[in-house]
Amino acid sequence: MDVHSNPYLSIVIPIYNEQENIPSLWERLSKVMAESFTDPDKSWEIVFTDDGSRDRSLAMLVEIAKAEPRVKVVEFNRNYGQHSAIFGAFAEARGQIVVTMDADLQNPPEEIPKLVAKVEEGYDAVGGWRQGRQNNDSFFRTMPSKIVNAITRRTTGVQMHDYGCMLRAYSRDVVNAMLLCKERSSFIPALANSFAKRIAEVPVAHAERAAGESKYGLWKLINLQFDLLTSFSLLPLQALSVFGVITAAFGFLLFLGLVVYRFMHPEGTAQGVFTLFAILFFFVGCQFIAFGLLGEYIGRIYQEVRDRPRYMVKKVHQGK
Ligand code: UDP
Ligand code: MG
Repeated sequence: MDVHSNPYLSIVIPIYNEQENIPSLWERLSKVMAESFTDPDKSWEIVFTDDGSRDRSLAMLVEIAKAEPRVKVVEFNRNYGQHSAIFGAFAEARGQIVVTMDADLQNPPEEIPKLVAKVEEGYDAVGGWRQGRQNNDSFFRTMPSKIVNAITRRTTGVQMHDYGCMLRAYSRDVVNAMLLCKERSSFIPALANSFAKRIAEVPVAHAERAAGESKYGLWKLINLQFDLLTSFSLLPLQALSVFGVITAAFGFLLFLGLVVYRFMHPEGTAQGVFTLFAILFFFVGCQFIAFGLLGEYIGRIYQEVRDRPRYMVKKVHQGK
């Protein structure tokens, strides 16, 4: 039997146009694996997903896989996004412990043994918590991340400092549970936490993106936030009705106030008209927010109902 058929540890890395980073990523990662996981009981594999890269990334990964039998490359037929890419790799990963990381070396591969040790202690999901966060990323990249973290903490009810850090380790049970989730839009760290019994955070170093640029703009981040909000809680829907009750009460009180004012100052009609306009605009605004949120849910229901596959694998490259 092939010794590597059931490795102890799987490292999962999504790749989208990372040709500048792959050489140093591979150099540092293979060094860490060779030095830290020498124990024959701790065999390992690395599963890359090529998420429809348009540069030389795929060719480079296939080269690596040819030279190193412990490397698998899942080739997607097009770009499906980071989290789908991670899922694609999860489906191929066989390790008892699965570690996810980004390709851009913002999460140093040297931290992997720390995370693995924490899972060995009995934790199901171990998150990296970025220390001294380096950011040459723009204001538009850091500010939304902070908001994402804050809202995620609230909606998922799990107090984690850093949801954005993708250097994470999971037990086999949690990965299996995640693989059973068929929903399209999912945010892996939050999903994992919903299945994990014991959750831990480990401080990890954080560097600037080694090369290339962030694949996330403001728009992708907003989308991710909506995914989070709608796939993990009904809070927005519930907040809507509370908000509705409050605004209705407020409107009624204001109406009473206006009636009283009208009796006291019969000459002040023009002012009243303007006040009504202000109130009207306020309500129209509220309605649009409500429609928007409903639309988000309906859109997502529509996507789930269509039940399209989350991604299509073109080929899995392994060995020669
Ligand atoms: N990524 C991906 N598909 C995408 C976008 C990103 O597989 O559509 C990968 C990317 O190659 C990297 C990781 O996801 O390994 C994180 O991307 P990035 O560094 O751009 O995100 P950020 O660090 O800015 O959140
Ligand atoms: Mg990055």
